[in-house]
Amino acid sequence: MKNHNDLVINYHVTEKCNYSCRFCYAQWNKPNEIHANGNKAETMLAFLANYFIKNPKNIVQQQMPYKNVRLNFAGGEPMLLQKRFSRLLTVAKNLGFELSLITNGHFLTESFIKQYAPLFSMIGISFDSQLTLSQKEIGRVDRKGESISCDNLLHKVTLLRQVNPNIQIKINTVVNSVNKYEDFTQLISAIAPTKWKVLQVLPVENNALQITNTAFSNFLNRHKKIDHFISAEDNSSMTHSYLMINPEGKFYQNKPNSNGYNYSGSIIETGVDEALQQVEIDWSAFSNRYKKSEALYA
Ligand code: SF4
Repeated sequence: MKNHNDLVINYHVTEKCNYSCRFCYAQWNKPNEIHANGNKAETMLAFLANYFIKNPKNIVQQQMPYKNVRLNFAGGEPMLLQKRFSRLLTVAKNLGFELSLITNGHFLTESFIKQYAPLFSMIGISFDSQLTLSQKEIGRVDRKGESISCDNLLHKVTLLRQVNPNIQIKINTVVNSVNKYEDFTQLISAIAPTKWKVLQVLPVENNALQITNTAFSNFLNRHKKIDHFISAEDNSSMTHSYLMINPEGKFYQNKPNSNGYNYSGSIIETGVDEALQQVEIDWSAFSNRYKKSEALYA
């Protein structure tokens, strides 16, 4: 069996965010987030490290051998947790995880970058529009109507690379009815990310931001000159091929052939092995998806 380099565990540490993107799907209905509950998040990370890093006979290693385990912090906006987030980063690194982060970039300050950028192998920054008005229309702004500009973004990326020359930078853009005519060629060329992940907006209820498949193709065609950076994902290719943990500290996976998710019990109460069984992962399908989409999600 092919040896995959990284097993990726997406830890959606919080559903809270300082932005209000109208297409946001990070909604677990105000869950009991374990980062706010004593040391539960640290305990869960220790459980995960014992199982995935220190136990070579774990079920995932048997189904699809991997070398490293990358803990990918996602949200909501993980950096909204400030010192709590920094503490979890340090704990996870000490437990032996590779680290990555998906962020809207708002709180990637110089002091954070200088102190914590060396811990990351990858940071993905979501950036949907170069125009202030469009950012507002999308909802990709905080309560004061503020967001990050192209110059801010470039500055943050430059600093990240100065502090950690090995860091991979990814940019994520959700193509929707507001930004579908934009041209990112100059900006993305200047950033030269490891990958520019371009996603077609997913339909959520009452969403006016949806676009047609043709509009999405037109967006991609407009960026042919920089297609070596692009990894494009339309709605049908957004299948999950990594392990996912919600803010309550439970595994969850897409239900086969339907909408919605299967959830495990709490990882620290149930144990990792039992919790994995509870989400009923079809490991051969998971492994196949993983192989196919390794390039997309790596
Ligand atoms: S920045 Fe991300 S988490 Fe925050 S509202 Fe937008 S899509 Fe949702």
